[in-house]
Amino acid sequence: MSQDIHRNMQVQRDFFNSFQTRDVNFRIDQLKTLQKAIIAYEERIYQALWEDLHKSEFEAFVTEVGMVLKELSLHIRKLQRWSRPERVSTNQLIHFWSTSRIIREPYGLVLIIAPSNYPFLLLMAPLVGAISAGNCASLKPSELTPHTSEIIAEMMAEFFTPSYISVYQGGVEMSRSLLSEKWDYIFFTGSKVVGQIVMAAASRFLTPVTLELGGKNPCIVDEDANLKRAAARIAWGKLVNAGQTCIAPDYLFVHKKVKQEFLELLKKNIQKYYGANSKESIDYVRIITVQKTERLADFLKGMNTYFGGDMNFSERYISPTILVDVRPEDPVMQEEIFGPILPVMEFETLSEVIGFVNAHEKPLALYYFSRIRKKQDFVLASTSSGGASINDVIVHFASETMPFGGVGSSGMGGYHGKFSFETFSHKRSVLKKATWIDVPLRYPPYRNKLAFVKWAFRR
Ligand code: NAD
Repeated sequence: MSQDIHRNMQVQRDFFNSFQTRDVNFRIDQLKTLQKAIIAYEERIYQALWEDLHKSEFEAFVTEVGMVLKELSLHIRKLQRWSRPERVSTNQLIHFWSTSRIIREPYGLVLIIAPSNYPFLLLMAPLVGAISAGNCASLKPSELTPHTSEIIAEMMAEFFTPSYISVYQGGVEMSRSLLSEKWDYIFFTGSKVVGQIVMAAASRFLTPVTLELGGKNPCIVDEDANLKRAAARIAWGKLVNAGQTCIAPDYLFVHKKVKQEFLELLKKNIQKYYGANSKESIDYVRIITVQKTERLADFLKGMNTYFGGDMNFSERYISPTILVDVRPEDPVMQEEIFGPILPVMEFETLSEVIGFVNAHEKPLALYYFSRIRKKQDFVLASTSSGGASINDVIVHFASETMPFGGVGSSGMGGYHGKFSFETFSHKRSVLKKATWIDVPLRYPPYRNKLAFVKWAFRR
């Protein structure tokens, strides 16, 4: 396995060193090829996502395929502009007669490792950035979604040469072999534990990394929130992809005064979305493996279930579930849930909630529902998270004008839109100097030059 990877990488290295990917028109052509490939394989991608996750075509389009197509159109339209050398100002007192530019250049060979929950999106969206920035790429899809991984491998083999983009199917062993190689950039999406393994492997070669990880995302509903809207949005955001979303609201803090009313509204929305029996709904996704279904079921043991709690292991099904009377020490509050279970706790003062959030790792996302601007600002100013939405959940992810990524243990680096191009580009600072003049200030003997230099530095 390692030998094959090594050989393929050598071929990619040769291709990269031919400088073809430096040409912006080449990159735009490749982005268009990827667009064509996805459109040609669209139905097969939906079928694969259905087989792996029981994901409806609507959800597959809105949260995976459509997102990648949107990203592709943006990059195709904007790449010429983004890739132009950026002229920046120069301090002429220090650098007399110079110009300064930042040139975005590709890193070289990049490795993209994807997780199982959005197996198409989270492999293809980073790839768009890698192509845009002029890199060669190697893709490692998740082994837990065999149908989607297979269709991606087939699609890429039909439309791209492996000397430019390769796909490596396989599990942990394959991932380990890939990580033992010297890459120029590694882009990883997955769990925190594997993120640590990736970072350790990258450190051997000082390879830069983006780590898109997970965590427990707090969701706070205050007494003055628009409860109807909040319930509709939270029920959707918690249950899209059956809760297997890195930015799903993990747990809910609801103000004591509105708790009962809010729980009823949540329940009504869930029933409206998935009917009386979510198992029968074609829109309700399954858990990725039986083992992970069992893990989720364990969270329910000994808990007070307000709604749901049905399960069927062989069908990888857990119904939308709301837990009440949850205590911070309960197992469900110890790790990322990553499933359709919403633990609910009540609060009376905002500072209680903020204290709780800040006593834990920095989350990937934070959600706060309130009509009062001052309180919204207060929550944002007193906490930290990768991203946040006010009066909604998840939607900040879908904005191409903002970088998406974590902070602290929820990850490092960001992407989407122009930020994907930036992530996969090295910013090379180039200062160009005239030769017709040479101010002799920097050369010894220094004698009485210091006073002038001090003045110039302070300006
Ligand atoms: P995972 O970490 O188990 O797997 C991700 C990838 O790493 C897979 O391709 C897998 O083959 C590989 N891998 C697994 N174990 C490995 C090991 N020991 N050594 C090397 N490689 C290994 O993640 P998952 O269960 O597929 O996805 C769920 C996690 O991903 C959640 O924590 C979720 O929050 C996170 N996630 C984050 C984002 C984000 O954008 N921040 C998006 C989706 C998922």
